[in-house]
Amino acid sequence: MRVEESGSGDIAELLRSFNRMTAELGSTEMMRNDFINIFSHEFKTPIVSIRGFARRLRRGGLTKEQQAEYLDFIVEESERRSKLASNVLLISRYENQKLVAEQTDYDLDEQIRTSVLRLESQWAPRGLIFELDLPRLPYRNNSEMMEHVWMNLISNAIKFSRDGGAIFISGTQENGRIFVTVRDEGTGIRPEDLGHIFDKFYQGDSSRVSVGNGLGLALVHRIVELSGGSITAESTLGKGSTFRLELPATPLR
Ligand code: ADP
Repeated sequence: MRVEESGSGDIAELLRSFNRMTAELGSTEMMRNDFINIFSHEFKTPIVSIRGFARRLRRGGLTKEQQAEYLDFIVEESERRSKLASNVLLISRYENQKLVAEQTDYDLDEQIRTSVLRLESQWAPRGLIFELDLPRLPYRNNSEMMEHVWMNLISNAIKFSRDGGAIFISGTQENGRIFVTVRDEGTGIRPEDLGHIFDKFYQGDSSRVSVGNGLGLALVHRIVELSGGSITAESTLGKGSTFRLELPATPLR
């Protein structure tokens, strides 16, 4: 509901506040509906099926294969939901945050290298190689928050690469700005998906079968924005994807 705002004075001011209030209530209401839908689809339904599998196991009388299959399902689904819950909490934390607390001085190149190493169990067995071109990049920000950026971008590059493929990460620094590029030669992103990959809960066609929740890039986008920077993606289907970040070296208030 909206009323016509006209003129000046107390009444006009009152009408303006009324319109502001209904706009805010409208968006809260929308958020709540969204939340209820997402909650029941992403948490309640899977938890009910996890419980079903656990009960079936408890009743016994299953073959060894069935047992293994049910246990795998329970482990995978609960890991996936727990990751989703952490991401939902993180994203709502960073969405509500206006300032970045606990900033420290550190080297961004070092943090990126450490993230690649931390993900080694995901890329080494698949024969992927990393080519890093990272000079020293002195930086100031909340390092724990920035770690989510690298972990998400690099694990996506790994997830969407073909076995034996290469991933390139480079960084440069100019006039107080840091530029980082993460490029893979994997599946690529369909043009119709490219405009939505930073949206919450958006998963492109290529990832229907893969584990994920469509929150990683939304989280990355919010963190980069909070850090005063920007991120863009380019991709050619079947050829690979490139994510470019620009960050102020000593960003924030
Ligand atoms: P997900 O948990 O599905 O990886 P993200 O928010 O991290 O969620 O990514 C959203 C979607 O963007 C993915 O489902 C995938 O379709 C696409 N995407 C992200 N990174 C890449 C990449 N490096 N290569 C191909 N597709 C990607």
